[in-house]
Amino acid sequence: MTTRADLAALDQSDPLARKREEFALPEGLIYLDGNSLGALPRAVAGHLERVVREQWGQDLITSWNKHGWIDLASRVGAKIARLVGAEPDEVIAADSTSINLFKVLLAALKLRPERRVIVSDVDNFPTDLYIAQGVRQLLGERYELRLVKKDEVEAALDDQTAVLMLTEVDYRSGWRYDMAAVTRRAQQKGALVIWDLAHSAGAFPVRLDACNADFAVGCGYKYLNGGPGAPAFLYVARRHQGAALPFLTGWMGHRSPFDFDPFYDPAEGVHRMKVGTPPVLSLSALDKALDVFADVDMEEVRRKSLRLTDLFIEGMEPLCAEYGFKLVTPREHERRGSQVAYAHPEGYAIVQALIASGVVGDFRAPDILRFGFTPLYLRYQDVAEAVERLERVMRQGLWKAERFRERAKVT
Ligand SMILES: *Cc1c(COP(=O)(O)O)cnc(C)c1O
Repeated sequence: MTTRADLAALDQSDPLARKREEFALPEGLIYLDGNSLGALPRAVAGHLERVVREQWGQDLITSWNKHGWIDLASRVGAKIARLVGAEPDEVIAADSTSINLFKVLLAALKLRPERRVIVSDVDNFPTDLYIAQGVRQLLGERYELRLVKKDEVEAALDDQTAVLMLTEVDYRSGWRYDMAAVTRRAQQKGALVIWDLAHSAGAFPVRLDACNADFAVGCGYKYLNGGPGAPAFLYVARRHQGAALPFLTGWMGHRSPFDFDPFYDPAEGVHRMKVGTPPVLSLSALDKALDVFADVDMEEVRRKSLRLTDLFIEGMEPLCAEYGFKLVTPREHERRGSQVAYAHPEGYAIVQALIASGVVGDFRAPDILRFGFTPLYLRYQDVAEAVERLERVMRQGLWKAERFRERAKVT
């Protein structure tokens, strides 16, 4: 058993403890939802205020050059590159994850014109599957989208597979693929691999280059703390940058947008994946938010993440026995992201009651309670406190209140 004193000692000696004060968190709240919307880094508000008042307000149109707005997508991309194991010129920040997936999926399929199959995980995040369905419609019925369970992915790959498209960490269960091994096996079959890093980037060290990934996309508003609707990111391995073409051919992806050439000519490298005018305010928020990571060792983040999630799993064991929560996250460290999920038939109401008691997690249909662990701003003692509050919700039956059953638009 881990006691409160043990946890206090862990907090005392935590090399990441100092990062918490860089975030604005409501007093008393335990935020286990940084995997849906990361907390606000304190420096962001002042930075945005300056961008709005000084750059937009005073310098107006000259800011595109004067304040480098025109290169913001690449500057922010370079900051993300360090967190995902890529070179600075392999990543840009742009658009949403869904749109970036559309861009790289089409680009990848066109690199394998003789093949017709996209393989993915049937439990992949729906937007990923919807984008693949749209791309398939666009390209015609000759294309097949093959959706399989995680343990069938390898068997589903053959000499017709053009692209294997996976999310590294399952958004519901927190199950994590072995990126290096899966990439290798798909490439042995001649396929290209696209990784969605929505629940990886900023959560633990990712090694895109070392794993020989082909393409990747990911979210700016989850573990990267870029704010609601923050721009996403996109990675193209350097070896594909000459041949991979965009099909959302917008002017910002042109070789020289300000020539106003009537004919599209793709920019060099990953820049050709840019489409339209970048959202400067959102990019500025993400840019400043990423500075939180500047002095952070991602290996340290991973160590703490595993300790936090281990402690939560341990703390929840009596509740599993007493109230029927079923752990759906792997206990094995290698197979785990930075979240812990439980199945429970009353999951929705329980999560609402828990939020009312100051512990924010989320519910994912049909019956999953999901808790995200963000090592930069969570304390070890928060884990014990969260379990205690959940225990109270169950023991006192607080979740049975009628108001916790009504489903809001966003769950
Ligand atoms: C959150 C998430 C997304 C979100 O995509 P948006 O286009 O930013 O809404 C995509 N894929 C996965 C795996 C996610 O978890």
